[in-house]
Amino acid sequence: MNPTNLETAIARLDAKIDAIAQDLDQQWEAKKAKATEQFVLFAVIGSCGLLAYHHALHPLLSKVAITPTQQVIGAIAPDLEKPVKGGDRVGQFTMGMRDFGYHIHPVHGTRRFHNGVDIGARGGLPENSQLFVVGTGQRTKVTCLLQNPGAGLYAILEPEESPDRSFMAAHLNKCAFPVGESGYLKPGAVFGLVGGDPAKGAIAGTSTGPHLHWSERKNGEWVNPTYWPLFQVMHGNLPSPPLSRGGLNATKP
Ligand SMILES: [Zn+2]
Repeated sequence: MNPTNLETAIARLDAKIDAIAQDLDQQWEAKKAKATEQFVLFAVIGSCGLLAYHHALHPLLSKVAITPTQQVIGAIAPDLEKPVKGGDRVGQFTMGMRDFGYHIHPVHGTRRFHNGVDIGARGGLPENSQLFVVGTGQRTKVTCLLQNPGAGLYAILEPEESPDRSFMAAHLNKCAFPVGESGYLKPGAVFGLVGGDPAKGAIAGTSTGPHLHWSERKNGEWVNPTYWPLFQVMHGNLPSPPLSRGGLNATKP
């Protein structure tokens, strides 16, 4: 083989390698694009391998993958989807003792269905505590409503990324929009303040004192509120670590 032929052969090989690499890249990009439809990307602090999360996790995820750009496709850890009950710690707060389900109502004295959970000053959340928009996507619809007696001033939160799931924060002092109106806010933005004591003139509805009443709906039904949205509404961010410990099971081919 003379030098010219050798160079041509090398050039051809190079081109083939490039084509294969490009094909692999395209395959990976296609896979990533598909995964991204369902999964939300996390940033990784690349050098030390620690996961830095931003509040962008889809609640239904269960797999983790590192993309070529050092991003991670993540999952809300299953234990962050656990239901909360009285006495539970949720980050820096402690849940009140009125659980989801049937109770003797403290104001009415009759057996009533309590469609959420309560947390007040004794749990670390006094009147006028800031409440933060929940969600793992780009934006969440917030609707401010008034029901008196009842929930008082309250907000419905509907994260755009999970149309089957919504939340209610009741007995508020302030809500982001005028009563009867809606708007879109980013997860983590303040949408309201914990309400005061109706006995002292607060517009907080039927309530024995300042507290947040928090409810969750799935497919139109009240469910026992789960941990991470409650954490987020009180802290503004998602609990850490938000990722499952399931392992890194999809890496670049
Ligand atoms: Zn309640």
